Amino acid sequence: QTGSTGDGYRWAEQLGHTIIKPVPALNPVKTSEDWVKELQGLSLKNVSLKLFQNGKKQDERFGEMLFTHFGVSGPMVMDMSKNIGALLKDGPVKLILDLKPALDFKKLDKRIQRDFQEFKGRMFKNSLKGLLPLSMIPVIIKLSGIEPEKKVDYISREERNKLVHLLKELELTPTGLLGFKWSVVTCGGVALKEVNPNTMGSKKIENLYFAGEILDLDGPSGGYNLQECWSTGYLAGKSAVKGH
Ligand SMILES: Cc1cc2nc3c(=O)[nH]c(=O)nc-3n(C[C@H](O)[C@H](O)[C@H](O)COP(=O)(O)OP(=O)(O)OC[C@H]3O[C@@H](n4cnc5c(N)ncnc54)[C@H](O)[C@@H]3O)c2cc1C
Repeated sequence: QTGSTGDGYRWAEQLGHTIIKPVPALNPVKTSEDWVKELQGLSLKNVSLKLFQNGKKQDERFGEMLFTHFGVSGPMVMDMSKNIGALLKDGPVKLILDLKPALDFKKLDKRIQRDFQEFKGRMFKNSLKGLLPLSMIPVIIKLSGIEPEKKVDYISREERNKLVHLLKELELTPTGLLGFKWSVVTCGGVALKEVNPNTMGSKKIENLYFAGEILDLDGPSGGYNLQECWSTGYLAGKSAVKGH
């Protein structure tokens, strides 16, 4: 936390500016599935995440994510959190995690068949080491409904399909964002249409300049938000000195 309590929004509003309602952005996401707790601390790379509402895809990202005791976090999830928060106001949403985005369903099935061939005579629970991080194996086994001690030779095509679907379409149910306390940036603030982008000066009050988080401006993770603060701060300072 950087120490701000929202005074700037109140001052700007008192001076006649419109404040777009501040909401948390770049925020971890709470999910309802119990099994996420078993994965807390597990970080995944090169996975893809899709956001759905009423069966319609609303967002899709590729990159890194992290499981926590309350749900999911990490850059990809944080970047999606603004959309998740907004959509949740209209109704339930689903996250679909693809653990193997480089392989389509068919290729993944072939890969699993190859693994099962390699692990012939071994138990299912000992056959997934090449495919999944260790801590994820018990969770995926439980969700698959396949008997962990079943020999891979006896796993049916139907069971294998279930496994492929789990790896390609692991469902998570967001219940909310973790909230302002854990938010990296704020979405909302002084309406941009009331600020001159050439000077950062207020279009309503002479000699009033805006910079940084107070503006209704936010970007994805990766330094864009600090850059926005530096750039608007530089311009606002320069303009204020010049007396625009
Ligand atoms: C944990 C965390 C990690 C982050 N990581 C990144 C990152 O990796 N990359 C990135 O781009 N962005 C990141 N951000 C966001 C970035 O830090 C902020 O967007 C940026 O600091 C905002 O700068 P600002 O100057 O507009 O506001 P602030 O940094 O909030 O500065 C406002 C200042 O005003 C002071 N203040 C408030 N009220 C009053 C008052 N009434 N009187 C006097 N002073 C007052 C506050 O104490 C504060 O010092 C992160 C934020 C957090 C919290």
